[in-house]
Amino acid sequence: MGKGLHRQARAGKAMDIALAAPVSKDSAAQERARARELRASQWWKNQIAAGRCHYCGGTFPPSELTMDHVIPVSRGGRSDRHNVVPCCKGCNSRKKATLAVEDILDSL
Ligand SMILES: [Zn+2]
Repeated sequence: MGKGLHRQARAGKAMDIALAAPVSKDSAAQERARARELRASQWWKNQIAAGRCHYCGGTFPPSELTMDHVIPVSRGGRSDRHNVVPCCKGCNSRKKATLAVEDILDSL
């Protein structure tokens, strides 16, 4: 980091884009594969059987809950029990919209 980062920061716009993408495509794919495994686990089945959305606290049938990464994989979040939560469809689309707006703001 240290010196290298400083040099990159002076290299201009192309480097800014590189710095804005903290996760390589490979590791993002790896995390998504891990998410699939986690979704098939007994632990996750217990989470959605409890039927509670992590964000709004509402109660939903398991079929209405999706697996959400608290820190998105695209931002360096991991697919582990500390970073995935049950999320209702309403909160999921709200969160996606918020992230999309943040991405637009970040890119300005
Ligand atoms: Zn919710």
